[in-house]
Amino acid sequence: PVHRLPEIQVARLRLPVLSEEQLIMEAVREHTFVVLCGETGSGKTTQVPQFLYEAGYASGSGIIGVTEPRRVAAVSMSHRVAKEMNLSTRQVSYQIRYEGNVTSDTKIKFMTDGVLLKEIQKDFLLQKYSVVVIDEAHERSVYTDILLGLLSRIVPLRNKKGLPMKLIVMSATLRLEDFTDNRKLFSVPPPVIKVEARQFPVTVHFNKRTPLENYTGEVFLKTCKIHRMLPAGGILVFLTGQAEVHAVCRRLRKAFPFRSGCRPAEEEEPADTSEEMRKFKKAKHKKNVSLPRIDLDNYSALPVDEGDEDRLAGIDEEEGSDLELGDAPSDSEEKADPSIPLYVLPLYSLLSPDQQAKVFRPPPPGTRLCVVATNVAETSLTIPGIKYVVDCGRVKKRFYDRVTGVSSFRVSWISQASANQRAGRAGRTEPGHCYRLYSSAVFGDFSLFSEAEITRRPVDDLVLQMKDLNIDKVVNFPFPTAPSSESLVAAEHLLVSLGALEEPPRTTKFQEMRNTRLNFPISPLGRAMASFPVAPRYAKMLALGKQQDCLPYVIAVVAAMTVREIFEDLDRPAGNEDESSRLAQRRARLAQMRRLWAGQGASLLLGDLMVLLGAVGACEFVGCTPKFCEENGLRYKAMIEIRRLRGQLTNAVNSVCPEVGVFLDSKMPPPTVSQVVCLRQIVLAGLGDHLARRIQPDELLDPKWRNGYKTPLLDEPVYIHPSSALFKTLPQFVVYQEVMETTKMYMRGVSAVEPEWIP
Ligand code: ADP
Ligand code: MG
Repeated sequence: PVHRLPEIQVARLRLPVLSEEQLIMEAVREHTFVVLCGETGSGKTTQVPQFLYEAGYASGSGIIGVTEPRRVAAVSMSHRVAKEMNLSTRQVSYQIRYEGNVTSDTKIKFMTDGVLLKEIQKDFLLQKYSVVVIDEAHERSVYTDILLGLLSRIVPLRNKKGLPMKLIVMSATLRLEDFTDNRKLFSVPPPVIKVEARQFPVTVHFNKRTPLENYTGEVFLKTCKIHRMLPAGGILVFLTGQAEVHAVCRRLRKAFPFRSGCRPAEEEEPADTSEEMRKFKKAKHKKNVSLPRIDLDNYSALPVDEGDEDRLAGIDEEEGSDLELGDAPSDSEEKADPSIPLYVLPLYSLLSPDQQAKVFRPPPPGTRLCVVATNVAETSLTIPGIKYVVDCGRVKKRFYDRVTGVSSFRVSWISQASANQRAGRAGRTEPGHCYRLYSSAVFGDFSLFSEAEITRRPVDDLVLQMKDLNIDKVVNFPFPTAPSSESLVAAEHLLVSLGALEEPPRTTKFQEMRNTRLNFPISPLGRAMASFPVAPRYAKMLALGKQQDCLPYVIAVVAAMTVREIFEDLDRPAGNEDESSRLAQRRARLAQMRRLWAGQGASLLLGDLMVLLGAVGACEFVGCTPKFCEENGLRYKAMIEIRRLRGQLTNAVNSVCPEVGVFLDSKMPPPTVSQVVCLRQIVLAGLGDHLARRIQPDELLDPKWRNGYKTPLLDEPVYIHPSSALFKTLPQFVVYQEVMETTKMYMRGVSAVEPEWIP
């Protein structure tokens, strides 16, 4: 039995799913698969796990597993459910990529979808679980899609073996047919239970014109206007990235400051970080002892993009110019007191859990709540008391060119479905208003739904993971939405070239396979690579890393390349002269440090990867302090994440080849000359398809091509960025981590290659 506190019980009773408990549990009892859909905030995520618990799904040998596409939701929901059930986090726990609090007493486990996918690799039947809930299925994250495909096979298999298991798919009311009318996925359409939420009407206001630039400025002005002119009620602002969120928060706090004493503290660093640091410092004092071994079950060997949309979205940010305030509109019905302070809170994925939890608590008395958020507030988290939504209409996403692999971050328009989700956030507790900072004509041009992520990005990592699960014919996999055959072919091609898949012999029997370039089986090397939680290219580097004692360096470089964006973006425009001169100083300091980290002579040829290695080495040498990072232009959060990933990779390498016995050393000496040469070859082995050759004088068709490089895939030349360690050297041949299109096609993570190494 569950002993809930009275106030929790009262709050629960108001949630729409509660009145459907019986219906839901009956459906679960009678069917293997159940789809549950309902508006955001109707109580699906917090209540359904409790229904399952009370119906005994965690009282036998199996537990209840719930997957979330975002780390924020996994952590925050596990805390909330523990609190509602009056249980400890030993029983209601979470597991995300780098951390978790799961114990042997855990009954309900919230995790990211990537974590569960990794568990399937260890135990295909998922015998730990009696029921799995796939939450936020409408987000169509790649891992969610793959999990659905796998579970559609695993669950019947379990039932056939007499180990009953259930699957519940939960979704906002969006495009359910992809799941229910997909015979490949579910041969019999699963029952769909719709929870009717009490949704109050939301009046939608379109802008007359659509600002194409400086929409953060527009967002700021609109929020000020709402606060000055409109009656009480929380404001929820949608922006595209972390830096934008902070910029608008700063401006709003300045415009409507708290009176003495009630100013919220600036965002502190996450608590877990300092704990991690204490542990690390302790370990450091013991000489030559490996870090405390991380539990090997405690990670997801999954690719890099899991849940890091906000970190990625944080780059390339610009702050809107300061605009005049105070142009009060004349059409306002009711005058509010403009002296009421605004209680401004940021909300995005990477915010620490304590900071996130603040949005659920009532604002200090006499203030108005204003949450400035990224996409996380669209469906993952429901913030109470929101009456006004300000929607910039945009989202920041990474775009890939399917053929060339060139990627770029673009702020693009959201879909109509997203816009309506955002608007809906205003009508949870009373009638609300949504201010769309774009015209209705622009809205009419939005696509109806957002595309499933799997159709938008390269799939080499997924294909390798699936082959490791012995799914050779990836084309036949029951995807809710299948990736394009082009991207499947590109993935198999890359994996064959990395040696992760076996190319079949040249006989007529295999001719068809060779022609389609699909369905190649995994090689032993591929199995080892699949166990490393990084992209296949980097996994290949790890697999080669033991030569010449290079492993610690390879691990550091791979960790830094995987985390990305380790340097602070100091090119942002400054708000005032003071800030501007501070920024200039820091830019100069970072440039100086980059030159230092790049080393001299031979090591210079490892290029930007040597800079990464130098930065990681220097930062760890002093114990990775926020002060060191701040002074030297490094992002502290990135450095902490690199440390965690290095620990994880170290363990993964040790478990694949125990004879290597690599350990994490905080005092890593710089690599020797021969190690640098070896590292450059290892890098080439992983990035072989990212080779570029300097354009010869006789090939210069256009003066702009000077100092450009030719790649096999692109017609246009690519360039070495002025901040690169190799900008002055301009070697004949280079490999690059990726090509990013900004003002030009720039290669990032460039390293020089000797012509005789090229196969
Ligand atoms: P759904 O999954 O259907 O979108 P949820 O179960 O997430 O709905 O939310 C149900 C209610 O629980 C919402 O009103 C939300 O505000 C509230 N809630 C969720 N997390 C917390 C929390 N940490 N503190 C207080 N209330 C919360
Ligand atoms: Mg939910």
